[in-house]
Amino acid sequence: MDRRDNLAVMFLELVRDIKEEFAYQSAMGMTETESEPPKLHPNPYPPLSHTPCTLASIREEIGDCKRCKLHQKRKNIVFGTGNEKAGLVFVGEGPGEDEDIEGLPFVGRAGQLLTKIIEAMGMKRSDAYIANIVKCRPSNNRNPEPDEIESCFPFLKRQLEAISPLLIVALGTFAVQTLLGSRERISQMRGRFHSYNGIKVMPTFHPSYLLRNPDEKRVVWEDMKMVMEELKKMGQK
Ligand code: URA
Repeated sequence: MDRRDNLAVMFLELVRDIKEEFAYQSAMGMTETESEPPKLHPNPYPPLSHTPCTLASIREEIGDCKRCKLHQKRKNIVFGTGNEKAGLVFVGEGPGEDEDIEGLPFVGRAGQLLTKIIEAMGMKRSDAYIANIVKCRPSNNRNPEPDEIESCFPFLKRQLEAISPLLIVALGTFAVQTLLGSRERISQMRGRFHSYNGIKVMPTFHPSYLLRNPDEKRVVWEDMKMVMEELKKMGQK
């Protein structure tokens, strides 16, 4: 083949590739706009990587986060604490004042109660992993707002991916509804297992609620007994 023949073959191959690409896009129901080059995202941060990562690399990616307005008043980012290979993860709502000061989740009065609950389950606090839906303190202990959750929740999702626990305990309405994407009342959801990405989730009352309603500790203990039983079945305890 001379040079002209070579060029002709290359041209025909290119035409065939383009035809195949169009046929594929049409079979996938893609429209012209979907095959346009992507528009620049208004978020100045690069998209979250999808490579499997460690807790340390997720913390590094969070950096000195200013992705939402909660950064303005925070003292510390409360990333999460505990065993990177924990079978059991506790998820709360967001840091309070003590947590904001110390940079650690559940260290105030509610946290001390959570520690007691974990110890009553025959574990050490450091055996589990503890984190929150948002990592910066919403001022005056208000609920996190949707844009704050949207910025922060992806990092908790990745922490859960990295830890890959057997079981999650969701503490309080807010954690339960965010993790499970549900609007149901916690009193309807607690006492049975739900699923987050294939991981069993036990919703239960938040320790702060228990401080105000100590009679409900009995109910939380029922939930924790189910958790212990399930962990035992999974060979964890
Ligand atoms: N309440 C929460 O939901 N999380 C904490 O870390 C502390 C209190």
